[in-house]
Amino acid sequence: MTTEGSSKKEVVNPKAIIHKRFGDKARYNVEEIQEFSSNGTPGLALPQKGPCLYRCTLELPEFSVMSDIRKRKKDAMQSAAEKALEKLTDPPVEDPWDQLVSRLSYLFSDEFYSICHPLSGHFRAALNREGHLNGFVPIHILPIYDSKLFNICKGIKPGVELKPLEVTSIVMDAATRLSETLFTSKEQVSLRRTSPYPTEVLQSVEVSCKQETYVKAIRIPYLVEKNVEPLTLDVSSDKYYMDAIARELGVEDASKVFLSRSVGKASSETRFYFCAPKSEDETKEDSQDRAFLNVRASYLSGQDIYGDAVLANIGYLWKSFDLFHEDVSSRTYYRLIMNKVPTGIYKVSREAVLAAELPARFGTRSNWRGLFPRDVLCMFCRQHRLPEPVFSSTVANGNRGPEETFRCEAKIFSKGQDLILHYHSQESFKKQSDATQDTASKVLSCLNVYLKKLNNPQMDLAMNGNGLDLEFYPQHISKEMRYFSLVHKSWPCFEASSKNLLGVNDNTACSYNIEGPDSEIFASSGCLVCVCYSVFLVKEGDKEELEKHEEFEFELGSEAVIPELEAVVAQMGVGQSARFRLELPPHELIFAANGDPARVLSLLSSGGCSLEYTTTLLRVTEPMEDRMEKAQFSPSLSKQRVQYAVDRIKESSATFLVDFGCGSGSLLDSLLDYPTSLERIVGVDISTKALARAAKSLHTKLSNNAVPVKSSHIKSALLLDGSITTFDSRVYGCDIGTCLEVIEHVSEDEATVFGNMVLSSFCPKLLILSTPNYEYNVILQNPEEDGEAINPTKPCKFRNLDHKFEWTRKQFEAWASELAKKHNYSVEFSGVGGTEGVEPGFASQIAVFRRACEFPEDVDMADVPYNVVWDWKSTNM
Ligand code: SAH
Ligand code: MG
Repeated sequence: MTTEGSSKKEVVNPKAIIHKRFGDKARYNVEEIQEFSSNGTPGLALPQKGPCLYRCTLELPEFSVMSDIRKRKKDAMQSAAEKALEKLTDPPVEDPWDQLVSRLSYLFSDEFYSICHPLSGHFRAALNREGHLNGFVPIHILPIYDSKLFNICKGIKPGVELKPLEVTSIVMDAATRLSETLFTSKEQVSLRRTSPYPTEVLQSVEVSCKQETYVKAIRIPYLVEKNVEPLTLDVSSDKYYMDAIARELGVEDASKVFLSRSVGKASSETRFYFCAPKSEDETKEDSQDRAFLNVRASYLSGQDIYGDAVLANIGYLWKSFDLFHEDVSSRTYYRLIMNKVPTGIYKVSREAVLAAELPARFGTRSNWRGLFPRDVLCMFCRQHRLPEPVFSSTVANGNRGPEETFRCEAKIFSKGQDLILHYHSQESFKKQSDATQDTASKVLSCLNVYLKKLNNPQMDLAMNGNGLDLEFYPQHISKEMRYFSLVHKSWPCFEASSKNLLGVNDNTACSYNIEGPDSEIFASSGCLVCVCYSVFLVKEGDKEELEKHEEFEFELGSEAVIPELEAVVAQMGVGQSARFRLELPPHELIFAANGDPARVLSLLSSGGCSLEYTTTLLRVTEPMEDRMEKAQFSPSLSKQRVQYAVDRIKESSATFLVDFGCGSGSLLDSLLDYPTSLERIVGVDISTKALARAAKSLHTKLSNNAVPVKSSHIKSALLLDGSITTFDSRVYGCDIGTCLEVIEHVSEDEATVFGNMVLSSFCPKLLILSTPNYEYNVILQNPEEDGEAINPTKPCKFRNLDHKFEWTRKQFEAWASELAKKHNYSVEFSGVGGTEGVEPGFASQIAVFRRACEFPEDVDMADVPYNVVWDWKSTNM
């Protein structure tokens, strides 16, 4: 791993050898990899970035190799050089047996004792072992903590890395050549120095004042039916911790204990400890009784592990002489399991039971919470010890306007560098990073589908369905996944299995009750909301709290949380609380949350449990759009839009107006303040909460016979709950239509459906339609800069997370002109915010369509899909 002390002379530096042979033709390329820090819980990926790690690719004329992941750049380069040397056909410079012998003698030298090395900690601790074991170090330990020694063994016998017993016997053979300095105990499978250590060494390890230390670990029985169970290890300073683990495993001392490689994050010390295989003939490891295979431990470590295993986070580190240790609970274990599947990685990263499944689509950076798809994918590969995924982006021709757009493809390889998956996206993005994230999310969905299929072999999923975008070779990943279905059996589909307990099929329509006074401040799609919540496991009045968050933020409508929570929060006012129950999610998720594992287990095993969520809406932050519209325009942009429409309406002699996407009714409400020719007004929207607000304010104005209303001719007012993309005959015959800042909330196709429908079926004399001008965003988003400094081509965010698109003037004008032409309308363009003729145009762009022809054919008056929310008729008709 690193070169230290006197070994420098004997041990050859791989990079130097490569340099001698290839000179400048050897090209090193070091890249940074992010690790995710642990928040005190081992082996977990959390969204904070941890220390940087490095990986190096070394290109040689004939081939290139990739290093292991290292904490330092130069170690990564050495590792790459080491790999290259392994590949080169020439025999190694030095006889590997000599290398092994010299490495062993260095490890047992006086000098090595004083070095801070993960292995020297074991040597020092061994000096505190009692009786005949005093000073003995188990051989199994050596290759685990000294990668240099391990690599030499691999060089001696390739493929040995998966056979701990064989590594041990190689080391043992080398040790017998050092019989002068090393005492070999064949029976104990341990080594000790023949000469005593110098007195200063002995003094330094003496425990003057015993420090009692206990650390929590868990036992994972090899029988999958048995639950994991907690245990406590005595790792007090006067003992060798490996002996404590041995006792837990039912063997007399550390030499019988094997260690797995570390699991979880790259620099973790979390490992499985297990006993030597039971086989009589120790040299024949292949003949081990498969019946003892510990499937769960093998799956997590990617190594074959037999018998019961202890999972603990403990060991000596490079930076300290003290023993490092951290508690491992059953929660840790379940989170490691969760971290093996994309959806689990995503949920764990959000630290929230109520986080949604990994969304299948990457929208924009700003409305994504938790690990980004690319990070989830990297983590998935790392968890399965696959090479890092390879992304490559290319510039695609933008389909709208001259701006550059990007496309991204991704490849996943197996350990043996066979192609597992190749996805080439047909979609292009304005930002390269969005293209990458989107591609990563597609790859993740593909993997999710594959994993689902593994757990449910009957399920027939056409993996190569759209052969254009995706090549998938499951045979190259199936080996890594051989234990998958045995371990994840309680999680059949990785899908929100949450179904409303009352049996309502639509899972967004769960039953809930909202408590507390309505504050009138509610969230609409695109708002940032902050809730506090608790999740309980409940059974007939018995409750166990699993998770609690004082503050949890998400964007409404971005599918960042379970759909039931979104649906409930959308109906709540700030300060109100709600409670609802859902069917149980997978057991792993419940254990990976929190709570008392014993209680959770007993509740779960008795059956009939459900999850209860309680939540309080703490805050609502309106979408960026609303904030900007108020802060940067006076009067606010929405007031200006309404005023523009009111002026057009006053000029017209229209009597029947429909406001499509009326929201809280700001336009309808303002209309009542002026004398107009209007007699009937109708508002349509899909938000019942917004409609309720509209009803309230219209009702106050109309029923109280407020002064201005007297002078109006309004005879009826109607609010309808429905989508502007479907037809309802009750709006037929309107002679004026308004649709302010609504079309961007539906897809471009739906906007066109709406446009066609209004102009062909409703046929108003006048249609006033507004939508944001994307080109103006650069000013909205850089309010401090003066006009000169603004770069008009700078990419901008959409104004509201709920917007599906925002058009430039050219795009809007093209869309509206085509629509007008098709339906025999004329169209004029205008806007509010900004100045006519000054770049980049108005903040809100407005199209006014005027009907050129006479009234159209009849329509089916029985078509009434909208629900009436509020219906008012004047009494003095
Ligand atoms: N016209 C209002 C509201 C604009 S906000 C104003 O200018 O103040 C956009 C509105 O469109 C929201 O109220 C939203 O609920 C509504 N909306 C989004 N998609 C819709 C659809 N398919 N049908 C009807 N209304 C929709
Ligand atoms: Mg909008």
